[in-house]
Order: sequence, then C-alpha cells, then structure tokens
Amino acid sequence: MKEWFAPYAWLGGPDFSRDVLVATDGGAIASVDCGMNPGPATVRLNGILLPGLANVHSHAFHRVIRGRTHESSGDFWQWRTAMYAVSQLLEPDSYRHLATEVFGEMLRAGITSVGEFHYLHHQRDGRPYGEPHAMERALMGAADDAGIRMTLLDTCYLASDVHGAPPVGAQKRFADASADDWSMRVLELESVIKSPTIRLGVAAHSVRATPRAALEAVAETATTLDCPVHVHVSEQRAENDACLAEHGMTPTQLLSASGLLTGATTAIHGTHLTNDDLQILAKAGTGVCFCPTTERELGDGIGPARELRDLGVPLSLGTDSNAVVDLLEEARSLELNDRLRLERRAIHSPVALLHSSTTTGLAALGWGTHEPLGVGSPADFLCVAAGTDSETFEASDGLGAFLFSGPSSVTDVVVGGRYVVKDGLNQNGQSRAGLATAIRGFLR
Ligand SMILES: [Zn+2]
Repeated sequence: MKEWFAPYAWLGGPDFSRDVLVATDGGAIASVDCGMNPGPATVRLNGILLPGLANVHSHAFHRVIRGRTHESSGDFWQWRTAMYAVSQLLEPDSYRHLATEVFGEMLRAGITSVGEFHYLHHQRDGRPYGEPHAMERALMGAADDAGIRMTLLDTCYLASDVHGAPPVGAQKRFADASADDWSMRVLELESVIKSPTIRLGVAAHSVRATPRAALEAVAETATTLDCPVHVHVSEQRAENDACLAEHGMTPTQLLSASGLLTGATTAIHGTHLTNDDLQILAKAGTGVCFCPTTERELGDGIGPARELRDLGVPLSLGTDSNAVVDLLEEARSLELNDRLRLERRAIHSPVALLHSSTTTGLAALGWGTHEPLGVGSPADFLCVAAGTDSETFEASDGLGAFLFSGPSSVTDVVVGGRYVVKDGLNQNGQSRAGLATAIRGFLR
C-alpha cells in the first residue's frame, strides 16, 4: 500500500476536490478521501491530480515525420507517401528504440495509456520474420521499457484499395496472406503477452484496406478474444466515395453490415459521417475517437462531435500521427473546432472534455469503466502544476479555467502505482534528447 496526497484533484465533479489522499495497492486505487492531511510516509504531489490521460489512437512511428511534410503543397495522400517511406526503415530493434522514446514523450505529457494501432507486421517484402511476432514484441518491449500502459491493436490490412486489390510497395509489410492468417497470428499473440499493463485489441485498418469478408473475420476474432476493436472510419471523403461506389453503402453502413460495430468498437476519426451513420453508431453503442490535431494537420475536416455526444456516443481522443503529443490540447481542440463549425461557444462541458481525455478513453482501450480516480481503477494519474507563470489560473478557478488557460505543465506521472515521471523527468531513461537521437536515426 502506498499513499499519495495532492491539494487538488479531479474526481469527476464540476470543481476540483480539496486535500485528496489516494491509496494504491497492487497497481490499482484502493481508496480516495478528501479533506485529508498527508502522513509522514505519504508522497506529496504539489498541484492538481488528474486520472491518467488515455491516448486512444497512436501510430508511434509517424512521430518521425512531425514537421517534415510542409515543404510542398499536397493532401492526405501525399503525406501518406512520406509516412510510407519511414515505414520501410523500421526493423524490430530500431522500432523498439524509437517507440520507447515516443512513449516516453507521451508519459512526459501525462498520457498513461495508449492504443497503438499497429500494422507494421512483417519484413519489407511481406515475408514474416523468423519470430512471427517480432514487431509486436518490439512495441510491447517499448511500452514496458517506458512504463506506459498499452493496448496493442493488431491491425488487419489486406488490400490496397476498396476493390480488394493486393497490397503494393510499402503496404506489403502491413499485410498477412489472408484474413485467416491474420486471425491465427493474433490469437497466438494473445498467449505471448505477459505484462499486466499490456493487453491485446484488434483493428480493421479501414474499409479501404480490409475487404468485407475480412471485416467479418475481425469481428469474429474480437468476439473470441473479448477485446476492443478499432477501425479508421470516414477520415477522407475519397474513402466514402469509393465505398459507396463499390458496396452501395457508406463505410459505417458496411461496418455495421459486417457485424463490426458493437459496444466494444471505437470508430477512429468519424470525420465525414452521414446522419444515418450517426444513428447506426449510437444504436450499436460504438464509440468515436477524435484526433483533432492530426485531423487539422492532414486537412481531413471537422467531425460532428456535438451531434455524436447528443446521441450518447462515447467520445475519446487520440494523438494519431503524433504531430502534437498533448491530450488536453486534443480536448480543447474538440471544443474549439466545434465552435468554428457551429459558430457558437461552450459546446462541450469541461467535465465532458475531461471524461473524453481519461475515463472514456480507458474504457475504449479495454481497461474497464471507472470513475475518475475511482476505487478499483488502475493506479494511473498525473500531477499538473497550477499557478505558474504560463498558467495564471488557480486551481480554485475550476475546470474550465484549467482546460482553457493553455498548455499544462505535467510534473509527475504514475502508472500502475509506480512513478514513471518525476519532476518532469522520465524515471526509465527516456528524454527529449533521446527522442531526438532516435528520430535522427531515420532521417537521411
Ligand atoms: Zn490512424
């Protein structure tokens, strides 16, 4: 048993609670009490205590091209060419090194759990590695090395277009030989996982890369494993147009017809949804993960967050391409994008935005439904400094002032009851300089 004390904490209400004592035991929160005094052995955190930030959608290796795709004009598809080029350089050892530093950066930003949407499965020519889970082991090793909680979303990627054409070029290493091969590999992977802070999920890359029969296979595998299932949905209008032409259905309608939309499913992006799509997602209990900083970076568009929330769809957040690694900036952007889109203010409450950043995301990653810092929830939390020069608000000003006063200074981060960032420094050896070195190794 270990005790942690903070003068302020968010426990789910519209204001911060005062003088909060959290006891952790065996990686989970054992008790939470307000109006307490710290004891002599209590760890004192000097700021606002928040439940760990849940980054529901990440591709760790995209971090390499942050800021390096702005030299020429272009669209999503041209950006993808640059991303594919990096995907060709990664091998298990180098990917583990890079991902460890990328996860270290997330931890410094207070992200305690990540959904790694992983499709880099095989060698460059598409042949499996001698160790068939080499790349998956690399990511799991990276998560453990850095100390982040991870849901590894093993992604089914079989085709280069919506007509089912075979993978070409860089896509070859993304693809298994068939949906059955993908499924067998993933079912075997389940037995490889030993860490208590890593779990398996599955993903269909998109209606573009996962043919209809394979979507059904992904749904079956998710049922067998009783795990989360994620899928990119309607990020680009071109994807919608191609899906309508091929199947006579929108991507959401096709996913629904394939049995892929359940309460365990999270649709990533959902940028270009029809009114019918909104109803389908709500009825299925499917969540939607917005990645606003990536969606703006790629020129995707602004999805209907308010409409989804009004229908009771759980909304979570992701850093996706890792062009920005600041989950509270994703939360602010969800609100501010909707202000631009709907031409009014105060569309998502600060409480709703903090839930999207924490508890809703944790559930979307398969770690259960918990109250913020609730008893029995994973002992994942962070401390944010209040009242510094850049943050002229005081914690007593409330959640809105906290969220909208600007970037937050994360001082301390705990995952599974263990310190992973202390006074802004990773406790497992990662650093800004280490990340820069890892990235430079891939630049030519
Ligand atoms: Zn993505």
